[in-house]
Amino acid sequence: MEKDALLLAARVLEALCLGCGACVQICPQAAITVLAKQARIDSARCDECEECIFACFNGAIII
Ligand code: SF4
Ligand code: SF4
Repeated sequence: MEKDALLLAARVLEALCLGCGACVQICPQAAITVLAKQARIDSARCDECEECIFACFNGAIII
């Protein structure tokens, strides 16, 4: 079955994101971009590896 990207991809809690870019560097799928100090995750690319969750010092990414 095709995954439901909206339900299963990592997502950013915008209020907690400071735009540091640490998650962008760590993501093996190149799924994260930072624009105007806000990280965004491309749910179609994300494979839920959780690397970004551990990389974010501010707890701004959840799955
Ligand atoms: S590591 Fe956390 S605070 Fe930094 S850009 Fe990513 S989500 Fe935002
Ligand atoms: S869970 Fe993995 S693939 Fe998805 S955005 Fe985070 S680091 Fe990238």
